[in-house]
Amino acid sequence: MDPLVRATLGLQHLIAKGTGLAVSLLLGGYLVCWAVDPPPDAYNAAALALLAVTLVVHLYRRLKKLAPEDAGRRDVQLFTTLTTAAYAAVLHTPGGLDGPYYPALYALMMVAAAFAKPAAAVTTVLYAACLEAGLHFVAFGQTDSQKLWIHAGFLAVFAFLNVSLFRAEIARMRRLSRARIQSELEKIKEAARSYRLISAPSSERHRSERGDDEDRLLQSSVDEIHQAVTFALDLLHRSLGLTTALLLSVDQRHEQLRIQELVSDWNGVAPGPFSSRDGIFGALLARRETITVAGPRAGAHAIYYALRPEVGALCAVPLIEHDQIRGVLVVDRSEARAFGDPERQLLEAATHFILRALENERTFGRVQRAKTEQGKLYRAAEALAAATTEASVIEAAVNHAREFAAFDFAAVTLFHRNSASHEICAVSGDGSDALVGQQFRHNTGLVSMAVANRHALPYRGHYDAARQVVFSAKLTPPAMPSLLVVPLVVHERVLGTLVLGSAQSAAFGDDVRPTLEVLASHMAVSLANARMLKRLEELATTDGLTGLLNKRALIAAASEKLRSAKRFQKPLSVLVGDIDHFKRVNDTYGHDVGDVVIRGFGEVLKRAKRDTDIVGRFGGEEFVVVCEETGDDGAKLLAERIRQELEATTFQTELGPLKVTCSLGVATAPQAGQAWEQLFKATDDALYASKRGGRNRVTVWSPKLQGAA
Ligand code: GH3
Ligand code: MG
Ligand code: MG
Repeated sequence: MDPLVRATLGLQHLIAKGTGLAVSLLLGGYLVCWAVDPPPDAYNAAALALLAVTLVVHLYRRLKKLAPEDAGRRDVQLFTTLTTAAYAAVLHTPGGLDGPYYPALYALMMVAAAFAKPAAAVTTVLYAACLEAGLHFVAFGQTDSQKLWIHAGFLAVFAFLNVSLFRAEIARMRRLSRARIQSELEKIKEAARSYRLISAPSSERHRSERGDDEDRLLQSSVDEIHQAVTFALDLLHRSLGLTTALLLSVDQRHEQLRIQELVSDWNGVAPGPFSSRDGIFGALLARRETITVAGPRAGAHAIYYALRPEVGALCAVPLIEHDQIRGVLVVDRSEARAFGDPERQLLEAATHFILRALENERTFGRVQRAKTEQGKLYRAAEALAAATTEASVIEAAVNHAREFAAFDFAAVTLFHRNSASHEICAVSGDGSDALVGQQFRHNTGLVSMAVANRHALPYRGHYDAARQVVFSAKLTPPAMPSLLVVPLVVHERVLGTLVLGSAQSAAFGDDVRPTLEVLASHMAVSLANARMLKRLEELATTDGLTGLLNKRALIAAASEKLRSAKRFQKPLSVLVGDIDHFKRVNDTYGHDVGDVVIRGFGEVLKRAKRDTDIVGRFGGEEFVVVCEETGDDGAKLLAERIRQELEATTFQTELGPLKVTCSLGVATAPQAGQAWEQLFKATDDALYASKRGGRNRVTVWSPKLQGAA
């Protein structure tokens, strides 16, 4: 941008923003210059008019809160102009700045401190001090500055005092309003409780974890009920010519009555609560039927008035729901005409309407809550279904359980049926890590009992660490007032338990237990699936007779090792062993003994190989060993050891001791081949050479063997 344009724009901006301030300063300057030697009246009138217009404009902008982004500047303009006006006024009072009206300026500083932005208040005080200095030195030509300091000091002190007092007051108001909001919230809850929308305030923490949704749901339910009940009361009030129609709630013990809703033309109704023994109410609660009184005695029963109007007739109808008195509908009127049958019927119909409104809201609340729970359960089930290992199932289950219940301790135990023992396989909670991996016998503890009975324990989740055993006498979870052991059941079979503990009492009440049981059953199914998957994987990769890798798994693992050997240019050897004249063993001793011998050969191989070697059964009585980072010599040594071990082994059979031998072939990559097929063919050639050479021997592949088979 051109500097000239920028300067012009800047000036424009300054004029737009600074005109108000400039006018204030101008007026201040005028005051200082002409305070003692007044100019002609026409000038003064003009200055006064400008002051008045400026003041009106600034006041208007301030009151209408115009230009809120410029609130500070707006305040400075208003209060400096006011200060000028105040000084001008004080100067015209008897005694001037030393006269009795000077404190008006202190008052103005206090107002500025109270209502202006803090920076604007400081500016105003500084402006007042400058103006005063101008008047002091310029207008009155004084040289001594002591009086000036005193005035300026007082101006600042008044402003400061007010700022601190005013701010403290604001803080107090904020506290008050926060307390008021809290008490409103409490009132909503209290109303919800008396409408039986929620249960007793037992687990506050649990509720708070359910979050704001629950508060909103409650508030909307209470509002709905309030509207329905007021509507009914209002209708009765108009149609029956009542003074007051109100709904009283009754506490559990039938001792107190509280006003829930009220429609009245009389403002002398007491806030309550009232004793249920007063007036007709004792009789009403005992007899549980509508009571009507009319005439001079009626007034005595209107116990809800602090200041009683004329009561000619009164009628009270109990609200009975599921055989329980939930409240009392009370109406009265000044006319001493008893409530007749049609009117009583109308009142009773109104109680039914109110009860239905309560039930509707309760159902609505239940449906909403169920919807939320269902959503959570659905997500938990999804996460559990996606988990394919035991560990991931346990992790997903414990994480999702937190959505339904607040707990401080969680453990999962698995039941080993064969050894009648339990294993704690996962624990979450402070200082409980030592429990992981511990085993305990099937006993009379809660975990064992839950497994045996397929029921969640203990009853209602109340736990007494001093009297109840959870795992075993030695293995104990942290002492907590609430604990729940939920069995993990699939098709009547118990896989283990989910154990949850909470430092909060009554944490596993009726509202969470059923959901936790559903979660546990999802968990059990996923756990069973994860085990099945693991078993399938084992079946697909291992040989049933020997437990060694099968041919497919061995080729996959060997190919992998071969690739890595090639990349790192390391040798890799393959051994093939085959039992000599095995057909004879089968023929002479039978197939079962043949199987024992095959298993025995497998054991010999397992014992002889190193940890990094892999062994597999290739079919029949033929086995393969793959040795990483092993050349011909190392492989030959291993093969020789295997041959000797088998030769030294004696199998006991019904037909007496049996000894067998084996032949082995060895080949090493890369000399004998780089691809698996090539390498294996070389090993097979070497084995064939051993067989041909008289059996019970080891042959290492060499190029000479090529084509010899
Ligand atoms: P060679 O010394 O030449 O190896 O003679 P061999 O009799 O051992 O011949 P070969 O290795 O070809 O024999 C394999 C025999 O192993 C054939 C089959 O009856 C037997 N066999 C294969 N699988 C099993 C098995 O799972 N159990 C038993 N008992 N025998 C098996
Ligand atoms: Mg054989
Ligand atoms: Mg064979």
